[in-house]
Amino acid sequence: MPTTNILLAITGGIAAYKSAVFARLLIKAGFEVRVVMTTGAQAFITPLTLQALTGNEVHTSLLDERAEAGMGHIELAKWADLVVIAPASANTLARLCMGAADDLLTTVCLATTAPVLIAPAMNQQMWAHPAVQLNVTTLRDLNYHIILPDSGEQACGDVGAGRLPEPEMLFAQVLHFCAQQATPQVLADKRVVITAGPTIEAIDPVRYLSNHSSGKMGFALARACVAAGAEVILIVGGKVALETPIGATRIDVRDAAEMLATSAACVEGTHPDVLCCDHDHDHDHDHDHDHDHDHDHTPRPADIFIATAAVADYRTRDAAPQKIKKTQDNMVLELVKNPDILATISADYPDLFVVGFAAETQDVEHYARGKLAAKKLDMIACNDVSRSDIGFASDDNAMRVFFAERYQKDAVTLEKASKDNIATQLTALIGALLPEYA
Ligand code: C5P
Repeated sequence: MPTTNILLAITGGIAAYKSAVFARLLIKAGFEVRVVMTTGAQAFITPLTLQALTGNEVHTSLLDERAEAGMGHIELAKWADLVVIAPASANTLARLCMGAADDLLTTVCLATTAPVLIAPAMNQQMWAHPAVQLNVTTLRDLNYHIILPDSGEQACGDVGAGRLPEPEMLFAQVLHFCAQQATPQVLADKRVVITAGPTIEAIDPVRYLSNHSSGKMGFALARACVAAGAEVILIVGGKVALETPIGATRIDVRDAAEMLATSAACVEGTHPDVLCCDHDHDHDHDHDHDHDHDHDHTPRPADIFIATAAVADYRTRDAAPQKIKKTQDNMVLELVKNPDILATISADYPDLFVVGFAAETQDVEHYARGKLAAKKLDMIACNDVSRSDIGFASDDNAMRVFFAERYQKDAVTLEKASKDNIATQLTALIGALLPEYA
């Protein structure tokens, strides 16, 4: 069921001012928003502000005759598809842990069957206190979902972890959570390594060879795989300025050689950024899964490798150590072939489920099937780059997807759609081919 009704609960903290902008972003995105404020919250921001922004009366009291006749605590609890507590004070965390029902917010949390997202915000010393940390662990065990606070300068002048994420980030976390809720978890417990973007091959310290790849398809796939329950490692070449998908671990590289070495290390699970699975994601994540790997430094190999990167086919034989001067009228760059990352990874790790991409201008099926066999892939997704309305920098794509012969599966056409939509369909196809889903 899609999330339409969001109950935003605001508790007492200086970060409450951010909730007004957050509420506005939710409204603009089309959510129906109702607001609950604790007594403490009203010391920082007025109900009138939130009423004006949401167009709905703000709920402040558990024992309010007027409210009980209209939207009382049980109706509010039933109305909500999702409850978001932002900011959540240390006091509220403690009350939720105990199962208290001493105000409207805690009572609604007990009475609702909707998921509850909690964004704690407080002074860094308070956040670090073992009692607060214990409460956060307890809340996860009670099936609450935690949005971890940001680090940085705090309103009180301290520096550290405890800041409420900016409204735009909170909003992105909500969208991410909703996508996850609405997506079949076909990649649950899978580790997926994705390459994205162009590579940059140095000519000298200031110049390079590259291409126009935007990285958008790889980033969309990373989002779709996270939403489908996977742990995603996104290896990004070149200078891709796209926002890192929530929940993915991003590793930036420059050239093909570095992308290959990083891909191999990530597939084996030995890359330092992926060695320990209990690193702090900036999103709520499946804590059972975390507990399995708490302080576990055993390399965890990947299950799936998806190569969307537009790897430069050639690099300079030797990059000049100093900036090349324009003294010659003509100059020749000697180029040598780059390794094929996809083919190398597929040959070196035969158990890995391997997905390639291809951009063709003609005879798409012929070339795609050739690459599928030559690079020993499980699946290849091809776009027709002769079409001007899709591909590269575009937000849209259209694909023909071919499968290794052993799957005995006919090619699938994905009609023109947003890259996010195409990525979701590709993720579902991958999930359906994995042995346990076959
Ligand atoms: O052979 P071609 O470049 O058309 O193959 C495209 C596929 O191979 C893409 O999945 C791309 O990411 C991958 N590739 C690679 N390393 C290369 C060249 C392509 O991983 N050097």
